[in-house]
Amino acid sequence: MLRETEIEKRLQSIHGRMNAACLAAGRLTSDVRLLLATKTVLPEQIAIAAQLGEALIGENKVQELKSKWDALQHLSIERHFIGHLQSNKVKEVLKYVSCIQTVDSLNIADALQKRLEYEDRCIDMMVQLNTSSEESKFGLQPSEALKFVEQLSKYPRLNIVGLMTIGLFDADPDKVRPCFERLRKAKEEIIKYGLLNAATFRHLSMGMSNDLEIAIEEGATIIRVGTAIFGQRQYPDSYYWNENTPTA
Ligand SMILES: *Cc1c(COP(=O)(O)O)cnc(C)c1O
Repeated sequence: MLRETEIEKRLQSIHGRMNAACLAAGRLTSDVRLLLATKTVLPEQIAIAAQLGEALIGENKVQELKSKWDALQHLSIERHFIGHLQSNKVKEVLKYVSCIQTVDSLNIADALQKRLEYEDRCIDMMVQLNTSSEESKFGLQPSEALKFVEQLSKYPRLNIVGLMTIGLFDADPDKVRPCFERLRKAKEEIIKYGLLNAATFRHLSMGMSNDLEIAIEEGATIIRVGTAIFGQRQYPDSYYWNENTPTA
């Protein structure tokens, strides 16, 4: 378990990096939000971050949302879903989050629309794109984004607020940057075609512990950081990003 002072120090360091990257890119620091990726992180540690002023977290598994957030109901912290969603988990996930960042099929959109109609409400969502062409990652190809967003116009309960991607893991920025560029360009194209307007379709969720500076340069409005704040995880990320990987 990390102590409060350690979490505080790491959060300060991340905010320092975010501010420096915004300054370098000529962007307002208020235009980029930090989302804490809290998979495997204990509720006590999340509560410390919330008390230090963090207001946005993302979880990858419905089961983890359920077990943590029944205990942390008192925290006023916005929660997004950032994992792969299965249609049989839609009803559960809607109890816990205000935004689903990972919609990548009409099958999931159907399930969400149906449940939201029943509950008579709407939800914010993003379309996940696979910008690195790695098979292990979910998401649509960037070339499919325009058509998919067009199809989503038939789902009035879904507010499309942006695009999300997991970039390539590579120490070489020249390989990482094109992934983020692809996401930005896909967003620009959707706006250019008049499918959505820039005021509501405004987010690019991209960039993590290792590549947040590049993501901010390329226009990220939400960066998702886990390891740099809460430390190494016990399970490899493939466990969270690819259902076919056996659990450790
Ligand atoms: C775990 C995770 C992150 C954070 O990754 P770190 O390298 O730990 O910062 C970001 N996005 C998604 C979808 C994740 O699953």
